[in-house]
Amino acid sequence: MTSFFKILHNSSKSKARVGEIQSDHGVVKTPAFISAATKGTIKTLTPTQVKEIGIQGACVNTYHLVTHPGARVIEKAGGIQKYSGLNIFTMSDSGGFQVFSLARDSKTRQQNFLSQRGPLHPESEKNLLSSSPEASRKTNIRDEEDPFIVKISEDGVKFRSTFDGRLIEFTPEKSMEFQAAIGADINMAFDECTYYPATHEYAQKAMNRTHEWLKRCIAYKNLTNLDSTFFNRHTPKGTPGTYPLQPVQYLYGVIQGGTFEDLRKKSAEFVVSQNTPGVAIGGVSVGETKSEMREQVKWVSDYLPKDRPVHLLGVGQIDDIIDLVKYGIDTFDCVEPTRLARMGIIYQISGSISFFSTATPRRGPLAIVSKKISSPQKEIDITKSIYKNNFEKVDVDCNCYVCQSFTKSYLHHLFKSREILGYTLATYHNLWVMERLFEKIREAIVEDKI
Ligand SMILES: [Zn+2]
Repeated sequence: MTSFFKILHNSSKSKARVGEIQSDHGVVKTPAFISAATKGTIKTLTPTQVKEIGIQGACVNTYHLVTHPGARVIEKAGGIQKYSGLNIFTMSDSGGFQVFSLARDSKTRQQNFLSQRGPLHPESEKNLLSSSPEASRKTNIRDEEDPFIVKISEDGVKFRSTFDGRLIEFTPEKSMEFQAAIGADINMAFDECTYYPATHEYAQKAMNRTHEWLKRCIAYKNLTNLDSTFFNRHTPKGTPGTYPLQPVQYLYGVIQGGTFEDLRKKSAEFVVSQNTPGVAIGGVSVGETKSEMREQVKWVSDYLPKDRPVHLLGVGQIDDIIDLVKYGIDTFDCVEPTRLARMGIIYQISGSISFFSTATPRRGPLAIVSKKISSPQKEIDITKSIYKNNFEKVDVDCNCYVCQSFTKSYLHHLFKSREILGYTLATYHNLWVMERLFEKIREAIVEDKI
């Protein structure tokens, strides 16, 4: 796997490592944050802004893209990178999270859906999620428009689309087919994301199903001319030469097992043994506590591959990242920085990096804290009225475009007036902070500080 993933440095202090993922859409320096681009857009940002911020990767959602505009439309357009104009390293998830996560209470959601149907905008999104950002972090870290499950079987799952009520089927093969058409650089094997809290019995059943499905995903990839190393280019089956060549796509197997140590370890052992180019840890951050989430990652850390990249699905809260990097996680995806931005929660760079006490501050865009601040804030809620007359930079220690150009008062005004620009500026800044945080993490690993 050397041409796909290269490790440049292993920390002497922990399992943290610095590496590079090589893709058709650029090199990703790891550890890296992969921004949520659920429907093929990093919400509110143009691709030019994405480049300015230095965002290395995006994670699109197969379920949402299959629902609309459909995988074939994206394929005809030449793949998601070209279609969206993002043209950066992209992952697609398997669709498993959405099609399973809320299966238990799909009836309630179906009733809610009838009264809430309609396009979401940031305000209604906020209302749908919960009354406070804190609550939304705990209970719904992923996406809000989950489908209504019709049937789960050993073969896959049938569900009704929230977009138009159409019946859609996801099987391991279908998920692979959809993801091949979408054309992201990384594809996730179709998995069953265990709900929380689940019994041991159910988590085991879901894990076994996930393992069987991984074998089927690998078999399907092999059959469709992506050989076992997944290095071959391919044209969509049955239509050679009709469409532009797809990029090289790498499959990641997904570790499940719920909140049970024995199952997590068993799953890690099995998934790693399948020799997919990368491995992901799924089914975390689905409602369990932070310490439970970290524990689930810790349990599998000894089993993770030393020569292949490891992705943690759906986790990206700043205070978790450093600990998780120490367990050998290379990439993270999470809606949190962008979703919170649209709720008016603005990261504060000094507070965010203070988690990171062992790193050496440096000059440049990060310009962190030459002045001593006792317990700097990690984030502020710009919608609060205290900011109406505050003419400081949006974040006094940040030098991104937003912080160079606008005041807290102006951003407060935009949010109170529900002006679209407010969501763009907040998203720009929050993702800027994330990228600078990961730069610091990579530096600290190279210096064996974490
Ligand atoms: Zn900023």
